[in-house]
Amino acid sequence: MALRLLEERIRRDGVVREGDVLKVDSFLNHQLDVELFEAMGREWKRLFDGCGVNKILTIEASGIGLACIAAQSFHCPVVFAKKTETKNIAGDVYRTQVRSFTHGRVYDVIVSKRFLGPEDRLLLIDDFLANGAALSGLLDLAMLAGAQVAGAGIAIEKAWQPGGELIRSRGVRVESLARIRSMSEETGVEFC
Ligand code: 5GP
Repeated sequence: MALRLLEERIRRDGVVREGDVLKVDSFLNHQLDVELFEAMGREWKRLFDGCGVNKILTIEASGIGLACIAAQSFHCPVVFAKKTETKNIAGDVYRTQVRSFTHGRVYDVIVSKRFLGPEDRLLLIDDFLANGAALSGLLDLAMLAGAQVAGAGIAIEKAWQPGGELIRSRGVRVESLARIRSMSEETGVEFC
């Protein structure tokens, strides 16, 4: 369900860049508007209330701030998947690969086996949903750990890109607080 406050902020401060990139670094992923994050966390809590979430899983770096503030509403810990280029890290980790939307590179993401397991019922959190690679990576890690997934809370879904359909077709409930139908440098952003 859309969060009007976030949509208004995107309209006001979001900057559309070439390559289907929306810059939101003045409030979401460089300078952080923590009061806005609180409203987003409360909305995810309202949407996923009663779903048994006992842990939030996100991916570094931009998801971490959002996940931590959301966790204050859920009263649960946050685990973030670490990006690594080292293939042979010693230790017990779950590992998968993600293709970065913004950089085009493929990198490994890992989570320690100590922090994810079959007793966990996860809410996945991330700032953007575009092609769905980051969220697919988090789903892979959850599956490897035998954890359940209650759903995914996304700040901004670019609805013309395939990620939303990809993830929902895997049976995952995705709640995006702002869904962008289209955007251009000339006309700005249009919401669904
Ligand atoms: P996906 O894996 O779904 O293709 O892309 C999601 C990831 O790419 C997010 O974690 C986010 O960091 C980054 N991303 C995707 N689209 C955008 C965008 O339009 N703007 C920004 N700032 N990041 C994006």
